Amino acid sequence: MIEVEVKARSFPGIEEKILDLGGELIGVENHLDLYFNSPFCDFARTDEALRIRVKEEGARLTYKGPKLDSETKSRRELTVRVDDPKALESILESVGFSRAAVVKKRRTKYGLKEAVLCVDEVEGLGSFVEVELSGDEDWEAQKRTALDILKTLGLVEPIRKSYLELLNDAGEIE
Ligand code: ATP
Ligand code: CA
Repeated sequence: MIEVEVKARSFPGIEEKILDLGGELIGVENHLDLYFNSPFCDFARTDEALRIRVKEEGARLTYKGPKLDSETKSRRELTVRVDDPKALESILESVGFSRAAVVKKRRTKYGLKEAVLCVDEVEGLGSFVEVELSGDEDWEAQKRTALDILKTLGLVEPIRKSYLELLNDAGEIE
């Protein structure tokens, strides 16, 4: 599954703008994201990610492959549900994976045409918006749709950095 994704810094009033464009509120989620590093390679260098996400409706384990282009954050993503995130964390640590960082955020999700817009309040970083499209259709076309939606919102400077990299830049991660 390819996850097409673009991100930009948000601005006050973005949620009204999304609603004006015909967006519909999907819901609000609180995320506690635990990122792991591999004993075999440095995920920061290989541009991969292994994450346990704990949210109200349950936990998930996600693997993200390297970014597929130089404009967006699109990548292959695989996700499974997790019954017991604490046990999974112990399993990963027992086989040599180590916790690289923790990211906390509040995500408000909107549906707009075939896209999902996420307005994220990230602890220690501020507010961002992500436009996501998923599927295995023509991902180049989906990429243009995602960038167009960002432009319609008046956001012309997409960011390719992850929240982890941004937190690092901000000196929030030792
Ligand atoms: P999602 O879109 O799945 O909800 P998110 O928006 O919360 O995730 P992103 O910033 O899009 O968060 O993705 C997490 C990023 O963290 C990935 O891009 C990944 O490359 C990066 N990352 C993961 N592990 C490491 C690591 N050990 N060192 C540096 N960066 C990492
Ligand atoms: Ca994202």
